[in-house]
Amino acid sequence: ETFAEIDLGDGLKQNIRKCKYLKPTPIQRHAIPIAVAGRDLMACAQTGSGKTAAFCFPIICGVLKDQLLLACRDGRPVACPLALILAPTRELSCQIHEEAKKFAYRTGVKIVVAYGGKPISQQLRNLEKGVDILVATPGRLVDMIERAKLSLGMIKYLALDEADRMLDMGFEPQIRKIVEKMDMPPPGTRQTMLFSATFPDEIQRLASDFLSDYVFLAV
Ligand code: AMP
Repeated sequence: ETFAEIDLGDGLKQNIRKCKYLKPTPIQRHAIPIAVAGRDLMACAQTGSGKTAAFCFPIICGVLKDQLLLACRDGRPVACPLALILAPTRELSCQIHEEAKKFAYRTGVKIVVAYGGKPISQQLRNLEKGVDILVATPGRLVDMIERAKLSLGMIKYLALDEADRMLDMGFEPQIRKIVEKMDMPPPGTRQTMLFSATFPDEIQRLASDFLSDYVFLAV
């Protein structure tokens, strides 16, 4: 089985080849077709499983297809990303950002990263230059929303990476606040993907609050 059989669009497929991804990993093989079909997803995924591509490919593919959403956004004074990827740490958010940029190379999709522990000013300037996909840690993201520099009103794709670790780090209030700011209510237009290594009650609760009619994947 190859990526060629999945409907991802030519630009993205070319980049996947450049990254030397020849064969999907198990999580990619199962998650990508489900996500490209528009379903919500909760997936059990460890570090090293290839989970980053599993949520990035469908998001990039979706953003590229969403010309209508892009047109609605024109002229808005604040940054309005179409997709948000939440991750627990600076290291992980930077890693996702680096990978996602390779996947989106020359597609025109703009990806920006925002994390704490560094002055916010440069990150805000990056947002002002335009953002389609925002990769962020929860605390810094709440800060940007409170400064009115960012609107989540057009988020169509939401991915939560290492959700169990985000809860362990005490980010649940921030995550709930962030999701409340997304105007598109479930069920319907927002597509949410939750990735976690473990599934304690708190994760199940997040899933039932944020996902609608989701597929659970354990591979
Ligand atoms: P991740 O679990 O997303 O952190 O990915 C772990 C590592 O595997 C990263 O270095 C990826 O670039 C690499 N990787 C992910 N998917 C594939 C694939 N289908 N083929 C080859 N390498 C991959």
